[in-house]
Amino acid sequence: MNIIDGKKIAQIVADELTQQIAFSKLSNRPPKLVIIGSNPDARSLVYIKAKIKRAEDIGIDTDFIDIGSKTRDEQISLVEEVNRDNSSDGIIIQLPLDDWSDPQELIDYISKEKDVDGLTTSNQNSLLVDESLFTPATPLAVMKIIESNNIKIAGKTVCVVGRSKLVGKPLKYLLESAGANVLVVHSKTKNTNELILKSDIVVSAAGKPGLISVGMVKENVILIDVGITEVDGKILGDIDMNNMAEKASLISPVPGGVGPVTVVMLLSNVIKAYNRSVAHN
Ligand code: NAP
Repeated sequence: MNIIDGKKIAQIVADELTQQIAFSKLSNRPPKLVIIGSNPDARSLVYIKAKIKRAEDIGIDTDFIDIGSKTRDEQISLVEEVNRDNSSDGIIIQLPLDDWSDPQELIDYISKEKDVDGLTTSNQNSLLVDESLFTPATPLAVMKIIESNNIKIAGKTVCVVGRSKLVGKPLKYLLESAGANVLVVHSKTKNTNELILKSDIVVSAAGKPGLISVGMVKENVILIDVGITEVDGKILGDIDMNNMAEKASLISPVPGGVGPVTVVMLLSNVIKAYNRSVAHN
């Protein structure tokens, strides 16, 4: 079994992005990503710092704004203010958000031109018809991993575990567009095991450690693990690695697989927003 090196893929993408910025003669200002969070916990802070570090290394300015002490109205005003700010290109809201039982309400205030996470309702609704908008970074990372490893997916049966708007739904669309036959399973699916067993590739994004075990997959399967769950301070994916080496041909592990690639795909969305912004101003 071969192990996919997500860090290496991420570095290659990061180098390409650095070059894109260096060669961009469109503007005398650098691209800028604004990260909005609300009293981030330790885990969220790890993610925020990883995004900031990678962005700054590439040449993207960042700003982190903690809205934890603001009222809901002030939080909305702040998002609107960043929307209007010509020096920023992308806005992301780091979840969880304290004051919103449904964070989508605040996310939907982000203008679609700056929605580099691709999570506003208007962006989600347009994803299938308007490719100029932003696809969420995690499904883009899965596609980048597939491409970087020369995995041929046209005509292959791919099972996507999970149907969230962050991962499963957009991924289904991207895989189908690339010619795969896509099966989607979720918590209500009755014949999950049967569908996984007939799949050439399984992408799991359920957030359930140990969900996919060796007896459930076919010989030479390719496994891409998106799941991230912290258990006793350890980060676990959805795939139970026990004896998997003898069954799978290729696996994207957790940690070190999809995660680092997701960060750089987010930053590629920021550069896409930047290029569009400076072309219009
Ligand atoms: P989510 O919104 O909670 O969605 C989870 C999906 O998994 C749902 O569609 C759910 O089905 C399905 N599911 C849950 N239990 C299942 C089971 N036993 N069998 C089959 N399907 C099951 O989570 P998400 O935002 O998509 O994230 C999924 C995982 O990926 C999480 O662990 C998250 O931390 C991780 N993640 C990783 C990255 C990265 O960069 N590596 C980025 C984003 C997310 P229902 O729809 O029926 O509830």
